[in-house]
Amino acid sequence: MSGEATSKTSASAEAFERAFGSVAACNRCQSRIEDYRVVAVFLHDTAAVRAYCRACYPAASEADYFAGGDGIVLDYDSFARRFGAPGPTPPPATPVNRILARLVRDPALSFLTPRSEAGARRLATRSYRFRVTFRLDAGACAAELAVTPQGDVVSLDGEAAACAQLREAVEAT
Ligand SMILES: [Zn+2]
Repeated sequence: MSGEATSKTSASAEAFERAFGSVAACNRCQSRIEDYRVVAVFLHDTAAVRAYCRACYPAASEADYFAGGDGIVLDYDSFARRFGAPGPTPPPATPVNRILARLVRDPALSFLTPRSEAGARRLATRSYRFRVTFRLDAGACAAELAVTPQGDVVSLDGEAAACAQLREAVEAT
């Protein structure tokens, strides 16, 4: 339940599939489309729900998270009420997913990969590495964060404004 995308088949599938109404903006290419797909990323008790066009959907179904269009970030209970419970109530979030949950709630975030601790574990090195892009006043700014499974920062490199934004998310957890 930590960081996996779900495609739902229950009675609430329709509510999920039409989460953004009749038209949604794709989070990767920003086109506004009627025929959009919805992806939910779970970070333990946080669900990030995003719309994608058909062309961008495959990219969003793997390890990447885009936030350039319509999306909502919900806690698990709100998600379950609105779209049906995707599984048992998750355990408390790990330190790493707490950091990622703060990042996906940051309105300046535009890109994150991998998008979950589970995704980072799959690429496993001794620390978990995340590449992040923000939309800031200065434009798109990128940084890379490496953290231990305990959530301690190993390194934080990249453009100064992006590093500052990332540090805020890390220190607030
Ligand atoms: Zn698209």
